[in-house]
Amino acid sequence: MIRTTFFIAAAALVVAGALWLAGRSGDVTLSGDGWQMGVPLPVFVFGVLIVAVIAALGYRFWRSVRRAPAAARAYVQRRDREKGYKALTQGMVAVAAGDAQEAARQAKRATSLLAEPPLTMLLSAQAAQLNGDENAANLYFTAMLDREETAFLGLRGLLMQAQREGHDALALAFTRRAHALQPKTPWVLTTLLDLEVAGRHWREAIEAVDQAAKRKAIEPDKARRIKATLMLACSQEAEDAGDSEEALAHARKAHALAPDFLAASIRLATLSAEADKKRAAIKIIEDAWSKTPHPALAALYGRLDDEKDPLKMVKRFEKLCGTNRDHPESHIALAEALLKAKIWGAARSHLDTAGGAAPSARICRLMASLEESEHGDMAAVRAWLLRATFADPDPAWICSGCGSPADSWAPICSHCGALGTLDWKTPARAAALEYSGTGLLPPADFGGDFGGGSDAALPVIMAPSAGQEPLPPTLPPDRFGDEGATLDHEPGDKPSRTGPNP
Ligand SMILES: [Zn+2]
Repeated sequence: MIRTTFFIAAAALVVAGALWLAGRSGDVTLSGDGWQMGVPLPVFVFGVLIVAVIAALGYRFWRSVRRAPAAARAYVQRRDREKGYKALTQGMVAVAAGDAQEAARQAKRATSLLAEPPLTMLLSAQAAQLNGDENAANLYFTAMLDREETAFLGLRGLLMQAQREGHDALALAFTRRAHALQPKTPWVLTTLLDLEVAGRHWREAIEAVDQAAKRKAIEPDKARRIKATLMLACSQEAEDAGDSEEALAHARKAHALAPDFLAASIRLATLSAEADKKRAAIKIIEDAWSKTPHPALAALYGRLDDEKDPLKMVKRFEKLCGTNRDHPESHIALAEALLKAKIWGAARSHLDTAGGAAPSARICRLMASLEESEHGDMAAVRAWLLRATFADPDPAWICSGCGSPADSWAPICSHCGALGTLDWKTPARAAALEYSGTGLLPPADFGGDFGGGSDAALPVIMAPSAGQEPLPPTLPPDRFGDEGATLDHEPGDKPSRTGPNP
């Protein structure tokens, strides 16, 4: 609108000027060497204007002729770039669609048309992978390491190749390099943690979980629990190396990080007792018992005192069990102390309360022990032992990732390799039936020491026999268990074993 108005105004001015000129009289005299010419003023002005316009057009034409080669080159480059980006897009679509041949064709085309290695090399590598040519893909990824802008992508590709081929140590080396380049990337942090754990590098794993928590790649609560688990692993390592002070220090850190963590309480209480810190051990046991009673805590509590008088021992256990009076484990612990003190009636009463209508295998065995000690009634003993083989299983350490039982708590599930997944809980009944389904007799290693301590009897029920496979996994194994499955790996492959997706 403004341009039109301007044009009309300019045209009006030109017409007005022409009319004004046409109304002027007079000549312009041009003279040269021996000649003279009179030209009317309007004709002269128009002549000058026409010459100026012709000169301007001539200059423009000359300029465009001079620039023609460069313009032609720019046009060809622009066309090639457009075609290259189109080929790149089609190549990526082909990769997504799994069309290996088309991906390779478009990758070749994009590489010849585009001078942008970061994009075309990645596509070429992915196309090679689709064609099953891992060596070619490896060459592309390795070549990407030479350029600053493609190094991270190359490392990611190489890391994934290493993980797919099960080379955890190589994958860890690539992840550490990727972490040095991009220390804030969440998947790098979680993959680093995963691989440090797989390599049993507990201290490095603690550093990785700290950084992952700092960058919010792992929720704070989960990070604390993982760190406490890793601290317990450090504690075990130190103990194995004979450094009991370091073992105790790490157990303390684990317990401080997660005061409700049963495994940390048991370990700290055990190490405190071994370090002759009985009062500290008793306090830890009593505190843990009030939250999660466990047979190992009761066994340790019994050993902590040199008390030889069984009646005084019963008093001690009454104090401990008073912190969690109604829990079945409290009744069982008291019953065991009462059995040793030969207070049969009260022991039977606590076992009845703990077992209810469906006593567990351990309670059945304690009942057998009671029948034998109180009445010497071997028929009743046999009946209780038979019942134990069909009874509900007792709580045990069960992997929440794959469902496998373990004899004792460990930082890593020996079956699926997940970190921190062993929980103290009652296993599914199928696990017990699978064990006891081969016969009616009680397990061969079940001795006559019925009242010999809870921790001796427990693993018998849940531990797989020699050569027997544990229960098949019900969930895909994850090193951080069902809760840890959301370690923010990028979508695609299995969460932990295979790491990020390209
Ligand atoms: Zn497991």
